[in-house]
Amino acid sequence: MLVSAKEMLEKARDGHYAVGQFNINNLEWTKSILLTAEELRSPVILGVSEGAGKYMTGYRTVVGMVNGMLEELKITVPVALHLDHGSYEGALKCIEAGFSSVMFDGSHYPIEENVAKTTELVKICAQKGLSLEAEVGSIGGEEDGVIGGGEVADPEECKRIADLGVTMLAAGIGNIHGKYPENWPGLRFDALEAIKAKTGNMPLVLHGGTGIPEDMIKKAIDLGVAKINVNTECQLAFAAATREYIEAGKDLQGKGFDPRKLLAPGAEAIKATVKEKMELFGSVGKA
Ligand SMILES: [Zn+2]
Repeated sequence: MLVSAKEMLEKARDGHYAVGQFNINNLEWTKSILLTAEELRSPVILGVSEGAGKYMTGYRTVVGMVNGMLEELKITVPVALHLDHGSYEGALKCIEAGFSSVMFDGSHYPIEENVAKTTELVKICAQKGLSLEAEVGSIGGEEDGVIGGGEVADPEECKRIADLGVTMLAAGIGNIHGKYPENWPGLRFDALEAIKAKTGNMPLVLHGGTGIPEDMIKKAIDLGVAKINVNTECQLAFAAATREYIEAGKDLQGKGFDPRKLLAPGAEAIKATVKEKMELFGSVGKA
């Protein structure tokens, strides 16, 4: 059964580790992530962007697929199904469809509007026992057409949103979606410390987990990050393994063109990436 992300994140915050959010795009992604979480006894958050939801034909399909897998694969570790960077309307749709967690990304609105919309969703999520992630200060890079300038969140604004009663808060600290540029100056730990000081016990979320050096990830966890989003890294691993299979001509040998064979190396590569991240984040054995 899907669970809210609240309990797993509070445990992570208190235990000084982070739970990974791994975005899903299809059956192979979902299966690889769930099997790895179960094998490693790690809690896990499955992230779904609005674009990925649309790609999978709609949120109800996603809920049906994930719930089916939890049962068929006998998954016993805590799993949250979470809308990533949702609009207000998208969040309502996911709640209706049966997601156990949603993110409302109001970071592109003026702060008053972000506060107003987040307040509404806090009420709805509280009634239904769902977890809610809010965002202050946009994350850099491009994700499903949403372009963020990579601003650093204002700690006072973070406090205002945190005090509304959200479960977790994403705050821009110089992190970027996608691949990091060569000249990236690194995470702004001064900003993270200031946000932590203002938001107290709130579990903080680090977006754009792909390509942040390991020592920076560990320091961010020490400073209060309890959830780390990984998306691009699984995509790169899947693509590289699939490329290797095809370039080796394996799709031309025997029944190598069978999609279950063609997609297998990519699915294994996702498992390896998820394992590496769970080990780095410290969530192994915490379920
Ligand atoms: Zn993000």
